[in-house]
Amino acid sequence: MCNEIDARSTSRRAMIRNTAAAGLSLPTLGMVSAMAEQPKPASIQNPQEALDALMAGNKRFIGGDMLPHDHQSAQRGSSEGQSPFAAFIRCADSRVAPEIVFDQSFGELFVCGVAGNIPTEEIVASLEYAVAVLHTPLIVIMGHSNCGAVDAAIKHENSVTDLPGNLPGLISQILPASIASADSEDRLNHAIKINVQNGVKQLPKDSPVISDAIEAGTCSVVGGVYDLHTGRFTLVD
Ligand SMILES: [Zn+2]
Repeated sequence: MCNEIDARSTSRRAMIRNTAAAGLSLPTLGMVSAMAEQPKPASIQNPQEALDALMAGNKRFIGGDMLPHDHQSAQRGSSEGQSPFAAFIRCADSRVAPEIVFDQSFGELFVCGVAGNIPTEEIVASLEYAVAVLHTPLIVIMGHSNCGAVDAAIKHENSVTDLPGNLPGLISQILPASIASADSEDRLNHAIKINVQNGVKQLPKDSPVISDAIEAGTCSVVGGVYDLHTGRFTLVD
């Protein structure tokens, strides 16, 4: 109990530190929270229940047994606030659609996207909003098979600066996964998995808000790979 209270206290201090850094005051954050959060479903109150709900949704999707969502009612019902039970870093790839493959509707998933599903500074800040304000209990880093961004990191491991536009800055963040998979026979799939694992490890290091929530047991970070062919999402260790 004492540890929980200490953890909450630590979390609150971290929130003060981070909101101050962002130019926000706690009363401001509180007002945003009051406006933005709706009650979560009674069945989804902690990280394990959130993960169970996602995996059950993916199972329904694979089996073609999706819930009969009334998206229009959900859209109208969520217009005054949101209470997502899971947040995502997913690749920008058009074939990776968390709401569909986890069989969810409006207001249930907080989805951040970037090619290569890496925890950029802006995405970490977005997830901090989900954790600190919306009290989202689960963060999922969602890689996928045949990821072009990871493939680019492998193919340009020694020539990343030759890539056009802003790509060098993005792809260079995937290079550690590429390098770590160098000896693998199934290199792309191995690098995709390592890239997810790196994200899971990196996220708490980049964010005291998230690491404090993990310590308090109010949030977990997991990673997995979505198979474009089968539709199955598989957790990685
Ligand atoms: Zn991708």
